[in-house]
Amino acid sequence: MWDAIKNIIDTNQSFVVTSHVNPDGDSIGSALALCEFLKAQGKDAMVAMSDATPMVYKWLDPDREMMAPADGADLTHIAGVDAIFIVDVNSWERLGRIGEAIKHAPAVKAVIDHHPYRESITPHSVIQTEASSTAELIYNLIDTLGGPITKRAAEALYTGILTDTGSFRFANTSAHAHHITATLLEHSVKPALVYDLVYNQNSEARTRLMGQVISDIQFAGNGQVAWLTVGPSMIEDAGALPEDTSGFVDTTMTIAGVEIGIIFVGTHEGTVRISLRSRGNKNVNAVAAHFGGGGHKNASGVVYKGSIEEAVNAVTSAAVAAL
Ligand code: 5GP
Ligand code: MN
Repeated sequence: MWDAIKNIIDTNQSFVVTSHVNPDGDSIGSALALCEFLKAQGKDAMVAMSDATPMVYKWLDPDREMMAPADGADLTHIAGVDAIFIVDVNSWERLGRIGEAIKHAPAVKAVIDHHPYRESITPHSVIQTEASSTAELIYNLIDTLGGPITKRAAEALYTGILTDTGSFRFANTSAHAHHITATLLEHSVKPALVYDLVYNQNSEARTRLMGQVISDIQFAGNGQVAWLTVGPSMIEDAGALPEDTSGFVDTTMTIAGVEIGIIFVGTHEGTVRISLRSRGNKNVNAVAAHFGGGGHKNASGVVYKGSIEEAVNAVTSAAVAAL
């Protein structure tokens, strides 16, 4: 399974590792761990992403040894490297600002991902939709190629599995994910510390905003669809950041009877970032795909062009139809 990836590593010297826009714990953790592994093999490697690393993940690369600055310099670098690893995503569009540069770079490109897909963007792809996280796949790669798993890589991989499994509570939480996690703990990961760094660093502003947003919760489909809305001025008035809304949608799923939960986050650019969550067989990947988004059966996302009102009308109707 890893032969093609191993061959790319063995036969090239300079690497860029990249991932999707609005990077999350899995994309950042996977990219950093792979970058660290490449460097341990004596390769030149760095991580380049379109968007900045959220505060809660900065500790994973405290001296910014791997994360490239988010400026024009990485585009020149991308054009000159031998190989590019694209992790936790399998589309040029979701690579954002640097997507075009990656698409047209002469480098050999490989994808390592766990999202459902129709057609891969490169023939060199390891895509396992049954994997809990891309971090799980990166662990398997490093393990198959004989390590090492440094403490920093272990923390990065643990963060990826922790965040993509919703702290080991989503349906993608498998025995294999737990086995890997146990091994990572043997590599000095401190679970309580990682949890604190990722989930317990919220600002007062975020908590107040969350209260406001949740108190406005709406329902349709006999209480089976619940949604939250938040506009850009609401975020600003609270003194919060757009990324502070990440995780709000999960509160909809704590309500008895809710099968599909959605949050609509408006921007000043006339787009709405939508996150969808579902239980069991309710497929929010199909709902998201209907609007040009994607993701997994129980967790998906869309960037909707239009107002929050339009997005709410269209997407909640589609969600009710998907019940
Ligand atoms: P989240 O709601 O946490 O941002 O994303 C949940 C899942 O949906 C993730 O697996 C993510 O990759 C996917 N996702 C989020 N936004 C988009 C989007 O705009 N397009 C696609 N194709 N997938 C998305
Ligand atoms: Mn992921």
